[in-house]
Amino acid sequence: EQSQRQYEIANEHIVGGVNSPSRSFKGVGGGIPVSIKKGNGAYLYDLDDNRYIDYIAAYGPIITGHAHPHITKAITQAAEDGVLYGTPTRLENDFAIMLKSAIPSLEKVRFVNSGTEAVMTTIRVARAYTGRNKIIKFAGCYHGHSDLVLVAAGSGPSTLGSPDSAGVTKNIAKEVITVPFNDADALEQALETFGDDVAAVLVEPIVGNFGIVEPEPGFLEAVNDLTHRYGGLVIYDEVITAFRFHYGAAQDLLGVKPDLTALGKIIGGGLPIGAYGGRVDIMEQIAPLGPAYQAGTMAGNPASMHSGIACLEVLQQPGVYDHLETLGKKLEDGLHVAAKEAGIDDVVINRKVGALTVYFSDKPIRNYDDAKASNGERFSQLFHALLKRGVHLAPSKYEAWFLTTAHTEADVEETIEIAKEAFKEVR
Ligand code: PMP
Repeated sequence: EQSQRQYEIANEHIVGGVNSPSRSFKGVGGGIPVSIKKGNGAYLYDLDDNRYIDYIAAYGPIITGHAHPHITKAITQAAEDGVLYGTPTRLENDFAIMLKSAIPSLEKVRFVNSGTEAVMTTIRVARAYTGRNKIIKFAGCYHGHSDLVLVAAGSGPSTLGSPDSAGVTKNIAKEVITVPFNDADALEQALETFGDDVAAVLVEPIVGNFGIVEPEPGFLEAVNDLTHRYGGLVIYDEVITAFRFHYGAAQDLLGVKPDLTALGKIIGGGLPIGAYGGRVDIMEQIAPLGPAYQAGTMAGNPASMHSGIACLEVLQQPGVYDHLETLGKKLEDGLHVAAKEAGIDDVVINRKVGALTVYFSDKPIRNYDDAKASNGERFSQLFHALLKRGVHLAPSKYEAWFLTTAHTEADVEETIEIAKEAFKEVR
């Protein structure tokens, strides 16, 4: 009830009633977004005190669960020490060293405030370094809302039914070439045509934005080889993937190495953050050393540094990723059983450790076209059937379910029981 009232107020004052379109229920056939007043561990509580098992995890950052005591303490400390100075701090150094030792390709880093900024700046730096204009990206991958990467973006705009954004000029769109993920031949063709003007190839090494989609063997190696052969740089967008599957970035899990990496989400422990880094000769293009400009009033702010360091400290504890793997497997298996019991046999689940996506599809999902072709209407039914029973997913068939270190076996078992009812409703 109170969510409905808040939504009415929100619509009166905030455009579309939400501060990020992915939170709207437009992509799941409509409905009133739940107004949350509190998060604790694996649970969200709405204004009417209904409890939800949370699989949104704030679209990824909340991997340690809500209000983790170690992170809460760090943020409290930050508040007591004053939250912003506009000067260098030791915290920035501590955190930079921590990130570099977890992700060896980061020879130099810079902190910014969001994943959008991180990706946007890696592209600028790549253009500065190569003196070239174009980028190649993969269809359906979402890299934030800067102009260039909104061309054929994934989960964000696609959820609302339009892959591109109005307001991005035709000239900007000309600088972007989009090819299918997991298709090295298509990349090679694009490079044959445009290669001498391609500054960078931008890729999510494990896709998180048309669901969880892993690279096929050899694909990322081919991205590296081809891009370098044509004189471009490889940028990994690890905003979703870093620290998601192990303590470090996906690149080290997969044994591949980009020239530049963009980070965000988990590394802020829930506070706003982005970071980018990579080869020192490329990073030295950035002001004050080089001609490529990037700055930020809030960049490297002490609160985000405190929170990020505390989050990584939690993730360094032994057993963290084993726990996510165990629960992820249990949830995956349980959802398959739940679907089967309900007589639904066209469910495909893509999972990596504690992140998974449930698609209604009768064929494997290996690229954006596959994900687009999956049944959105049935996903919407599943979404609403779960929500009314106390399981909160992100409202889009393209988003992952994220487990956190706070989820327990009992939470997963409860989710599976609820899913049994929900799948029956879908059928
Ligand atoms: N890159 C990827 C892979 C993302 O998933 C996102 C956000 N979903 C972004 C970039 C943009 O990050 P932010 O929302 O912090 O700007």
